[in-house]
Amino acid sequence: MTSISPDRRGGHDALDPSPATIRDMGTAALEWVAAYHDSIRDLPIAPRTSAAALRQRLAEPLPVEGRDFAELLEVFRDVIVPGSRHNGHPRFFGYVSAPGTAVASVADLLASALNANLPAWRSAPAPVELEHVAIDWIKEALGCDPGARGLFMSGGSMANLAALAAARHRHCGDAVAEQGAAAHPAPLRLYVSGETHHSIHKAAALLGIGRANVREVAVDEHRRMDVEDLVRRIEQDRAAGAEPFFVVATAGTVSTGAVDPLSEIAEVARRYGLWMHVDACYGGFARLAPSARPLFDGLAEADSISLDPHKWLYLPADCGCLIYRDPETARAAFSLDAEYIRVTQTEPAEAFAFWDYGPDLSRRFRALKVWMLLAHAGARAIGEAIESNLDCARHVADLVEASDDFEMLTPVGLSIFCFRYLPPSARTATTRTADEEEIDRLNERILVALQQAGSSYLSNASIDGRFALRGCVVNYRTTRADMEVLLDDVRRAAKQVAGDAG
Ligand SMILES: *Cc1c(COP(=O)(O)O)cnc(C)c1O
Repeated sequence: MTSISPDRRGGHDALDPSPATIRDMGTAALEWVAAYHDSIRDLPIAPRTSAAALRQRLAEPLPVEGRDFAELLEVFRDVIVPGSRHNGHPRFFGYVSAPGTAVASVADLLASALNANLPAWRSAPAPVELEHVAIDWIKEALGCDPGARGLFMSGGSMANLAALAAARHRHCGDAVAEQGAAAHPAPLRLYVSGETHHSIHKAAALLGIGRANVREVAVDEHRRMDVEDLVRRIEQDRAAGAEPFFVVATAGTVSTGAVDPLSEIAEVARRYGLWMHVDACYGGFARLAPSARPLFDGLAEADSISLDPHKWLYLPADCGCLIYRDPETARAAFSLDAEYIRVTQTEPAEAFAFWDYGPDLSRRFRALKVWMLLAHAGARAIGEAIESNLDCARHVADLVEASDDFEMLTPVGLSIFCFRYLPPSARTATTRTADEEEIDRLNERILVALQQAGSSYLSNASIDGRFALRGCVVNYRTTRADMEVLLDDVRRAAKQVAGDAG
């Protein structure tokens, strides 16, 4: 194992293997990939395991001598895979979780092999140009202005953080960057709704703006931001001497899939000089589906848009994305002079650096998987898959409405459905004896039983204080038939819970 290879490679075999060895490792790994994609529909979705059991199989002191790749692949197959939740299963409806695609996993392998690092154009000329192309395609899918510009990041939370940092810099200028948040004379205010993702609150805390300065605007009966309440709060804050500077509209909330009224919020943002950020992490790519497209009117007016291609573009984690309508404002927030990153190119495209537009310096070549998926599948196929996901959510809602043992708790928003099981004692309003807390507890136990059974997977949401079984369809494998199996699985879990209780 420790022999120095005799040929021109000169390195250690494990660090610098021969082409034949690389081919063997790759072939064995790709055999697994092919079999996994072929069998994922038949796997139990979530593992029944424990941290203690996994540690017992995996933990060991740092190996001093190396061992064969074949042995490690065995650990992957025998411990890691069965100990993983299979988010690509067609009935995994928890959270907002993409299935990944085969072409993207191959792209990730190639990107790692090339080991391109993309802080700036000079570091990786063609990969950086490819990132511009992939971003341009995403801009086209969203209907953004040609002058907009963006970059890939680890995820939506980082994209939201960067957007808030850029907006704060536009509002406060260099004083805060130089002296810290206390240098700004008045309290800053930003506006979200009660349905906004908590990464925004976290970003406000991290940037020294403070969670107390995040104002929660009321929502309407569809859980969309109430624009009149937004205006009222801005006026109140201004009258009190605070400075409103940022508003977050969400295009697809995580609980119920609501899309805020983007054009109206854009109008308010313009009127009061606020930076408008659209969190489209979950919903943005639904603009490719004709039935959802009108919801995104006004999106292009946003100052920034965060997206998660690792959600509804079906890509494997990680891949977040941030687009700025005016990239120069972002540049002012992030660019920094340091001798070791000094750019000597004079051609602007070649002097380009991503570090001017976000917090990262080293960046992986995420663009390759985005580009390969979009170029390989084409926008039409992706739009059709998204349309079919929307249809699956509407279909399950129809089935729930037509049943007497389920009820919807809120209308379907994009591809998210929130419903609950009704025990016999709660099925007709006139003879209803079960109280709300009882129904909540029952559904909570049903959720656990469903997740453990492994055929379908939901997560939960709180709808007006009630416990909801929540599902989100973001998987090209999911069919209408899967939605029917899901309801049968929930019924089976309910029967099991009732049996356990009796
Ligand atoms: C997923 C999500 C986020 C957070 O994105 P990460 O990639 O998980 O960091 C933020 N906002 C919305 C609406 C989301 O759906």
